[in-house]
Amino acid sequence: MKYKITVDKVEKSKVDQLDFNNIPLGTTFTDHMFICDYDNGEWVDARVVPMGLIPTHPAAMALHYGQAIFEGMKAYKDTDGTPMLFRPEQNAKRLNESATRMGMPELPEEIFVEGLKKLISIDHNWIPPTEGSALYLRPFMYADEAFIGMRAATHYKFIIMASPAQALYSKRIKLWAEKQYIRAAHGGTGEAKAAGNYAAAVLPTELAKAKGYDQVLWLDAAEHKYIQEVGTMNIFFKINGEFITPNLDGSVLHGITRASVIDMLRSMNFKVTERKITIDEIKEASENGSLEEAFGTGTAVGIAYIQEIGLEDETIHVSDESPVGLEVNDTLNAIKTGQLKDKFGWMTKVD
Ligand code: PMP
Repeated sequence: MKYKITVDKVEKSKVDQLDFNNIPLGTTFTDHMFICDYDNGEWVDARVVPMGLIPTHPAAMALHYGQAIFEGMKAYKDTDGTPMLFRPEQNAKRLNESATRMGMPELPEEIFVEGLKKLISIDHNWIPPTEGSALYLRPFMYADEAFIGMRAATHYKFIIMASPAQALYSKRIKLWAEKQYIRAAHGGTGEAKAAGNYAAAVLPTELAKAKGYDQVLWLDAAEHKYIQEVGTMNIFFKINGEFITPNLDGSVLHGITRASVIDMLRSMNFKVTERKITIDEIKEASENGSLEEAFGTGTAVGIAYIQEIGLEDETIHVSDESPVGLEVNDTLNAIKTGQLKDKFGWMTKVD
């Protein structure tokens, strides 16, 4: 590749200290990380280095003005042990869409994909061997220029870190339809995977959890009527045999699982419609018995089955079973782990 990646390896791997049957959530990191700097208008010094702290100036612009974006993806092992990535070029594309919206520089897809591959090929022993587990990858970019003043930064860091993640067994989840707080408005940053979107979601999510719900169902900013997405997932409803998911109107994150599930449902001969859908339509479908199932889609859990939705003083019952959701989840997992032929061409080998 055009960008040379230098490698500085740890003397001794820490992987043998990890119990793969009992991985603490989100606190274990592999031996190395990938870093690349943006300086003087170009990406330079691509390197794999030991995982560790990064000196940060207190005036680093990301800490104040929030130019910070990220991606989330996973590496799996094929049946013959080869590490595999699921649609990495889609994450590279989305990172650049987020960067553009946040006034940050684009990162060449080659650096994104080759950086991932280099890191995974060095830390491949950290991909959990246990069924359903995977190596979670977190590529992110932030403004690390020390400057006080409101403008686009001129210095950024792109980093990829990796964290082994245990299988998350999907339980049926309960959603809280949020009418007071919003996630995204037209013209805002909802389509970007920007850190600030998640910061604004912390309080409403904590309040929903205190009421006994698992995640927030986000409604549109203007009328609190149209469904957008769920916590960190996109959403699908099955009504009278047809799947409906909110259209990408600028306020919804372009989920890579969402796009894949649409393709898969269509290949199973289901009708899938991307359109505006209101919470009242879901309530009505629940009451007249036409709401058959609903699920969230995202990298972290794959498919999460929705049991009920709390809406002000009422509870909308969704369903106790998700037969199609289960089938899609199993098929997706089988493709990711090489147990099923990758007829969609989604997997990239790391060799
Ligand atoms: N919506 C939001 C807000 C998210 O954070 C995520 C997770 N990236 C998703 C949807 C699902 O996206 P993906 O399928 O690419 O993980």
